[in-house]
Amino acid sequence: MSEPNQDNITIEEKPANFSVAYACMRCGTHVSQSELTRLPEIKCICGFRVFTKVRPPVVKTVKAF
Ligand SMILES: [Zn+2]
Repeated sequence: MSEPNQDNITIEEKPANFSVAYACMRCGTHVSQSELTRLPEIKCICGFRVFTKVRPPVVKTVKAF
């Protein structure tokens, strides 16, 4: 018999580096901002250079009355 362990509760807290991501307009590959800044130029692996900003699933509840 094992008691329910309260320590099993996982608190999902996203690290700060998940703040902004970009998605290629052509192939949809997601690139993090830190990855983009590392590159000499903002360019996708497919060669396309237009990215759209992607928001990670933000834990923010907006009440719509
Ligand atoms: Zn691409």
